[in-house]
Amino acid sequence: MRYAVISDIHANLEALEVVLADIEARGPDELICLGDFVGYGPDPVACVERVRPRLAGAVVGNHDRAAVDRLDISTFNAYARAAILWTREQLTDDVRRYLDELPQDLRRPAFLAVHGSPRDPVEEYIIDAVIAGACFEAAEFRLCLVGHTHVPGVFVHDGERVTASPLPADEPLALRPTDRYIINAGSVGQPRDGDPRAAYLWLDEEAAVATLVRLPYPVEKTQEKMVAAGLPAILVERLAYGR
Ligand code: ZN
Repeated sequence: MRYAVISDIHANLEALEVVLADIEARGPDELICLGDFVGYGPDPVACVERVRPRLAGAVVGNHDRAAVDRLDISTFNAYARAAILWTREQLTDDVRRYLDELPQDLRRPAFLAVHGSPRDPVEEYIIDAVIAGACFEAAEFRLCLVGHTHVPGVFVHDGERVTASPLPADEPLALRPTDRYIINAGSVGQPRDGDPRAAYLWLDEEAAVATLVRLPYPVEKTQEKMVAAGLPAILVERLAYGR
């Protein structure tokens, strides 16, 4: 099986369109989404409606939960909170129901998929090898796909140690059968690794290779929509820097 794995679309339709066009050209067996369809960006309904019919499976993100009022947003920063309150006003009943019914995790023979981490699927951030190590202990999987931090990368457990590495674009990562992996697919709609290009992960099960794909998209167009919607300026600006 060949999988395209997208995460953290965050209502960025311009980034989503570019990513979907690339994925369509490659023709994977399945398209999987790791959550955070909405929040931050200006097109929550259009993004869900565009991607939903193409998905073979998806899991829920913390912003999706917040947007349907099922997660306490008092811990969100003021800008994320403002965007969620705006997003709640935009959602149609149909999109709200879709987000509300998304599962917390998804299993395929090749992988476990969650938004945050295998031990706290919706909210935990895997930001270093220590947290990744605890996650390797907490759940059974050989490969776990995550999003949530918006920083693409890979954590490898070789049976003794856990190491963390970035995942550069277009550099195939060979998955050794003796090792365990947590791979972060990065973010379609709000990258935070200093590279403003949209990211997604290509996973070829038979070849045992995972490759991060990065694609430029018209950031200014998304920014203009965000300004027009009255979304916080800091959220508009960060898209240009990928932070
Ligand atoms: Zn997110």
